This record gives sequence, C-alpha cells and structure tokens, in this order.
Amino acid sequence: MKEKFELVNLLAEGLNEFELNSEIRKRGNTEEDVWFFLVEDSKEDFEPLLQWLFIKEISLKRIYVEKNMSDPTDMIDYIMDGSWGYSDEYAICEYCEKIFKKPDYEYNHECEIVECDAEIVWLCDGCIKKNQDTYLEDKINNPKKCVTMFSKEEMESIGWKSISSHETGLYDRFDDPEEIFKKIQNCDEYKNCNFIFVRTDQNPFEIEYDLMFKERNDD
Ligand SMILES: [Zn+2]
Repeated sequence: MKEKFELVNLLAEGLNEFELNSEIRKRGNTEEDVWFFLVEDSKEDFEPLLQWLFIKEISLKRIYVEKNMSDPTDMIDYIMDGSWGYSDEYAICEYCEKIFKKPDYEYNHECEIVECDAEIVWLCDGCIKKNQDTYLEDKINNPKKCVTMFSKEEMESIGWKSISSHETGLYDRFDDPEEIFKKIQNCDEYKNCNFIFVRTDQNPFEIEYDLMFKERNDD
C-alpha cells in the first residue's frame, strides 16, 4: 500500500490523465499546509478516474469495498483525508492563493439587494484585513455595495459613524440603499461627508445594515 502522499500524487496524476478540471493544490502557502482537492464542477464524472486508480493501486479497490464506499468522492475523501470541496463552496484567494470556505455562502449567494464584493474577486479573510483600504475603496459612496467583512464596531474604530439602521427583506421592510443614499447626499448636515453601507446582520430573508459617514477631510 502506498503512503498517503503517494496516493495524493496518484490522484493528481489521474486528474491529468482524464483532463479533469478539478485540481489538487496547497491549501495555503506555508510548509505545514495540507493539500486540498478542489472539485471544479459537481457534475464532473470521477467514475473512470476511480477505475483507473484501482488499476494503479489495487489496494484501493479493497478499501473501497471494505469501507462500503458507494461513490468516487468517497475515495477522494479517503485519499485526501477529507481535505476537499466544491468550487462553489470554496474559493482561492486572489492575493495569497489560499483556499478557504466562502463566508456566509448560503446567505450571500442569493443576495441581490447589496452585492458582496467577494463574489467577484475572492480574497481570504486575512488578506482583506491586511488590505482594508483597498477593500473599502469601491464601497465608499456606492449604494450598490455593502461592507460585509468588517463589523460596525470595526468601522467605528477607523472613524466611521453610524447615521441610521436599515433593513431590506422579503416581508416587512424594504429600504432601498439607492434612495437612502440619494437622500443623505442632499442633506446639508453631511455636505462634506463620505458614506458607506455596513452589514450588521443577515439571514435568508433579510439583510440589516447601517448607513455610516465620515468627514472627507478625516482621511
Ligand atoms: Zn489571502
């Protein structure tokens, strides 16, 4: 029986052999980071790959039967020690190439009200925190975007102050960020201010957010 790392290599070889889109890559960028198998498409057919693996390493077939496995992904699970996932749930960080589970996947997924920037370019938590200004840049004075990576308290700690709390949902409140933004822009009191929307809470039925401001010359 081959060592675990040899099995991982064999699996990688098989992916090449069958020209599958899935890939095995380092989960992070340090020595200790384990390998991660990113399945590109949930419909990808791993059956031929499985049969190929059985030919290359006969003991895998025995394990498959002994452990009552019923699907090729069970074998992937075994070889990768559970370190694998589908690309609609896991993303690769644009900056550090680390693989991470997409945050609030189920909630943000269908959120049409306020776009989550992370849907377009994925950055891991660590990289976003390290590049706060870049992350905030396209959310300032933009009612189409909402800060989801920093809490209201974190925003307060860098000088933003809350003006009002809002909610947009399926049932009772339907606040429109565009209208809120338009209204505040015409407000004399906030003439020299920048504005930003910050998510405070979210569930599948509604999103709660605050409108925050910061004087322009604060920067
Ligand atoms: Zn990163």
